[in-house]
Amino acid sequence: MNQALSLKDAMGRRFRYLRLSVTDRCNYRCNYCLPNGYQGDDTAEPAMTLDEIETLVSAFAAMGTRKIRLTGGEPATRKDLTRIIEVCKRTPGIEEVVLTTNGYNLSKKAAEWKAAGLDGINVSLDSLDRDRFKDITGHDHLPRVLDGLEQARAVGFTRLKINAVLLRQFNWDQFDHFLNFVRKQAVAVRFIELMQTGDNAVFFRENSVLGSQMEEKLQLQGWQEVPKTPLDGPAREFRHPDFAGKIGLIMPYSKDFCRNCNRLRVASNGNLHLCLFADQGHSLRKALSAGETVSVIRQTRLLLESKAAGHTLEQGFTGATSSLAMLGG
Ligand code: SAM
Repeated sequence: MNQALSLKDAMGRRFRYLRLSVTDRCNYRCNYCLPNGYQGDDTAEPAMTLDEIETLVSAFAAMGTRKIRLTGGEPATRKDLTRIIEVCKRTPGIEEVVLTTNGYNLSKKAAEWKAAGLDGINVSLDSLDRDRFKDITGHDHLPRVLDGLEQARAVGFTRLKINAVLLRQFNWDQFDHFLNFVRKQAVAVRFIELMQTGDNAVFFRENSVLGSQMEEKLQLQGWQEVPKTPLDGPAREFRHPDFAGKIGLIMPYSKDFCRNCNRLRVASNGNLHLCLFADQGHSLRKALSAGETVSVIRQTRLLLESKAAGHTLEQGFTGATSSLAMLGG
């Protein structure tokens, strides 16, 4: 691809990675995200159709996007998720299609998604203790999510990651459970700092654990940071000679986190968000519903000129993001 055609902002950051939310609906009630469950909203715009997604993905591929992460809400609640995977994967230019899911139907769907071309799966799994899992997510689903991970491995997925948000009152004391989990299993567990959103201010105050505290625990136990390459994502990765798997830390509150930002986000209603915590999304819907790839490209390039250097989350400014379910994290 001609470098001049690829997406680049005023700070010289290149954007080859699109996080695409395919629905804002979620079937879980994670206490830090949607504690009262998905409420729906009759006035909200419906999620993009498969055709609109196809237009969006073609436009982004033409602008240099190489990787797409499908997220939500819970993307697997969309009946046409397998078709969405196929459409993304067969778009010229797209090299990687990956999925973030809570894993509720992974055991049933893993083979189908693999056949559709899915390259990797991140499963959100905030506790390896059945009761705690239920307390956090509102569902007694730990055995089925673990079974889903097994099934995904069995059908040939090698890129499997577990995401866990560490919460002072719910799973911070279980840090070592996750370490033990990767002792024999060659998977990556990534701890994500709890982020404040428009809806979780009190919960955030009571439950935030900084990544620096996680890092300290890792270092005390002999974990060593692996140097990053320029194409790596935001996670800092750690290894230990006695463990088969690895641990990642995703620390949006750390200094310079935004310096290497390489992703853009589109919400399920077709709004482009220049940052997870931007003040607003910009609707591409008109162009998407008309199938106007060129217009999507033109608008995106123009909007990108106003991408800020970084978020101001550390000052409590959460922008338009009421919960990450609306954008997919
Ligand atoms: N439903 C899918 C899932 O559970 O993975 C995808 C959407 S979910 C919003 C994506 C990720 O965001 C999950 O790993 C979830 O734990 C994380 N997340 C949600 N709210 C968060 C918050 N306030 N701070 C940090 N991570 C959050």
